[in-house]
Amino acid sequence: MAEKIVIIANSITVGELADTLNLPVTTLVGELFKNGIAATINQRIDFETAQIIVDELGLDVEIQMKQVSDAVSTRKTHELSKDAVSRPPIVAVMGHVDHGKTSLLDAILDIKSVDGEAGGITQHISAYQTERADRKITLLDTPGHEAFAALRQHGALLTDVVIIVVAADDGVKPQTVEAIRFARSANAKIIVAINKIDKETANSQLVKTQLATEHEMNPEEWGGDTVMVEVSAKTGQGVDKLLDMVLLVADMEELRADIDVPAEGLVIESHMEHGRGSVVGLLLAHGELTTGQFLVAGTAYGKIRTLLDFRNKPLKKAGPSTPVTVTGFKELPQFGDEFGIATSEKQARQMVEKMRAEREHDAASTNVTGADMLKMISQKHESQEFKVIVKADVQGSLTSVIDSLKLVDTEGEVTLRIIGTGVGNISENDIRLAADEKTVIYGFNVDLPPAVKRLTARDKVQVRIFKVIYELLDDARQSMSDLLAPEVVETEVGKLTIKGVFRTQKDAIIAGGEVTEGKAISGVIARIKRKGEQIAEVEVVSVQREQQEAKEVFEGDLCGLNLKTNKKILVEEGDKLEFFTRELVKRIIS
Ligand code: GDP
Repeated sequence: MAEKIVIIANSITVGELADTLNLPVTTLVGELFKNGIAATINQRIDFETAQIIVDELGLDVEIQMKQVSDAVSTRKTHELSKDAVSRPPIVAVMGHVDHGKTSLLDAILDIKSVDGEAGGITQHISAYQTERADRKITLLDTPGHEAFAALRQHGALLTDVVIIVVAADDGVKPQTVEAIRFARSANAKIIVAINKIDKETANSQLVKTQLATEHEMNPEEWGGDTVMVEVSAKTGQGVDKLLDMVLLVADMEELRADIDVPAEGLVIESHMEHGRGSVVGLLLAHGELTTGQFLVAGTAYGKIRTLLDFRNKPLKKAGPSTPVTVTGFKELPQFGDEFGIATSEKQARQMVEKMRAEREHDAASTNVTGADMLKMISQKHESQEFKVIVKADVQGSLTSVIDSLKLVDTEGEVTLRIIGTGVGNISENDIRLAADEKTVIYGFNVDLPPAVKRLTARDKVQVRIFKVIYELLDDARQSMSDLLAPEVVETEVGKLTIKGVFRTQKDAIIAGGEVTEGKAISGVIARIKRKGEQIAEVEVVSVQREQQEAKEVFEGDLCGLNLKTNKKILVEEGDKLEFFTRELVKRIIS
């Protein structure tokens, strides 16, 4: 528990935050500046940034976000009454692309998830329910992880369990890591589904080893506490067991919710449909929904006209953890909005007005976001420590080695930290102290006894022995250079204006345009800009000139483009493309 709890709105000025924290404004401004953000006393920072700053300053303060409206709060931490009843677990299925999320859901639901990925709308979550042992399980699926990230940004998240799907023939991949990170930050329980075990090339052991060694997720059979289930979405093997494990985990969590309270929850999908008007997907946190109730979500409100379950069957009533679809909203609420109930149309309108005013205020004044901040900090924090242990033959040489090492300067980007020193041969103790692969033990004019050498191999500790001090320093300089983040160098090669878009797919765009500057080249990156604003960054897979594949197309010529994207992007005529190359250049400490 932090010593102090501070409650702030979803954005706050630097001056107000300093006041609240009882700190000089200069301290906050200085900390922001250190992280690459030049902010003034009146500048607003968002909630996440405030949280990061407090962490960075090492203050024992917990920051909580003030509820915008008391009637609209869906925190997981909602206080339960003694009448709370058990509710179905809400399970998100995540994992690397092609590892079988959709197939696994199909296998679980025994249906084809018709509206799943076809639309390619990444900011929505599809929700389903299945039954196992007469108990319900709510499942959430999203084509990308963006939707979950967006929900988290709203500070609202109802997920209890995350099933991380890892293909046994492919192992842990970047989006697997993303999913693990997400699940942990959302405080959800993790169950790993090792999928595709029907394949000859499947290697479940490798997946387990990767998870255990790289992500501290040890399977139960190795004495750990991460539930891992081998499954095949194709044959159905292990799927029942997976669901049993979900229920088991849910039981341990004692998931409960109140029914006899005004309904609250989250908007997980919303779109307009011809003839039906607004169609909105909701996930209930607690309370019950019925037709005729007034709903408020963000700046939208309406009276529930129809209430449907995930299979579009009419419902009389829906309770906690249930995904439903409602019609009747006058405007579309936004994905991630929290919804609540109003007692009358008048109250609903008032709540919406209040929310609208707050949002306008925020939009006008927030100019530092947590995302900017995290980026800066991760750049700053990445591998900036070079840990060493120094051993030397006599005290005099030990002192001069240490003093010289301290002079190896990287302008603060990589710091050299001496975690141990001593006179004499490298010892078992030194190896134990090093204990990780990144620490280097420098020996100056000393020996590495054979018994200790064996330990270095076992513990993968690096020992480097020198007889000449300059060589030792060169080695340290080189090692620190290796830890420097490479510099990103972008070189512009040309510009193009879109004249027509021929096809837009989930991950590809076929379009054409005129090269207005420089040239268009295959294999480069392109920024897509609309009215001066960047809307996406894409890969240029190939370029064509007069319907022929070309290496490059020059200024003044028409050019066909095949672009690769990581989500569906709607490019329009008139959009500008800027082509450039991006290289990582290694930096060296001189
Ligand atoms: P997603 O991108 O994670 O949703 O992955 P999909 O469900 O679309 O699956 C990607 C590919 O892997 C498809 O061709 C599936 O047929 C295949 N696949 C998924 N699960 C299994 C499985 O258990 N066994 C085998 N052999 N193939 C699978």
